[in-house]
Amino acid sequence: MSFARPSDEHAYRVQTTRQAKMPGVTRPSFRCSECGYYRGTAGRQKTASGWRCAACKRMREARAEQKMAEAA
Ligand SMILES: [Zn+2]
Repeated sequence: MSFARPSDEHAYRVQTTRQAKMPGVTRPSFRCSECGYYRGTAGRQKTASGWRCAACKRMREARAEQKMAEAA
């Protein structure tokens, strides 16, 4: 890649370095409304307040199953 001005290259480096720490910019992801982390979109679940990541979804399902098992 070539740049017209040295400052352009600097800006490019600064941006890509910053984005490397932000998965939301480099791959499809979202902020989980439950754990607050940026997660991949795979397995996410729509909720009233936004999206829930796959890990939080599994946690919820496990809790629900445990409650059902306790009630039985
Ligand atoms: Zn989550």
